[in-house]
Amino acid sequence: MEIRLASPIQKDSVVDGPGIRTVIWTQGCPHHCPFCHNPETHSFEGGTIVPVQDIIEEIKSLELQDGITFSGGDPMMQPLACLEIAKKCKELGYNIWCYTGFLFEELLNKPNCLEFLNYVDVLVDGKFDNNLKSYSAKYRGSKNQRIINVKSSLKKKKAVCLREYIIK
Ligand code: SF4
Repeated sequence: MEIRLASPIQKDSVVDGPGIRTVIWTQGCPHHCPFCHNPETHSFEGGTIVPVQDIIEEIKSLELQDGITFSGGDPMMQPLACLEIAKKCKELGYNIWCYTGFLFEELLNKPNCLEFLNYVDVLVDGKFDNNLKSYSAKYRGSKNQRIINVKSSLKKKKAVCLREYIIK
């Protein structure tokens, strides 16, 4: 299996979820949010196609990372490749965050996304809205984006936000 990536995996990020994380930047996003910070990741023809196994080998060799974050682009456009990587990340004991422009509720009916979601701990969902942009909204660009506890949400069949990140 292969995955289309926007760039090589990035170690030591401190802004894509808590702790020190490695980010997998997927290529391809259908949302086209105005003022998106990563417009070069939108094209489904751009980036580089990489064997999933290569990414898994890189993840196996990581040191001193607290978790893995899927970002992009929109990882939910390549759920099966992300699922393969996420399975290995879980075996290695990593906590997994995933950013998406879709809403949690939309993903429940999107092919193969539920399978991937089963391996995701935290989902940051929703499009970037420049009118709701906020530097105080931790780990996201705009206040409408939710930081969701995936396990609880799947159990309750509705989005459950992580209390520590709810903006009042
Ligand atoms: S979902 Fe993310 S990557 Fe896609 S257009 Fe919106 S901000 Fe950009």
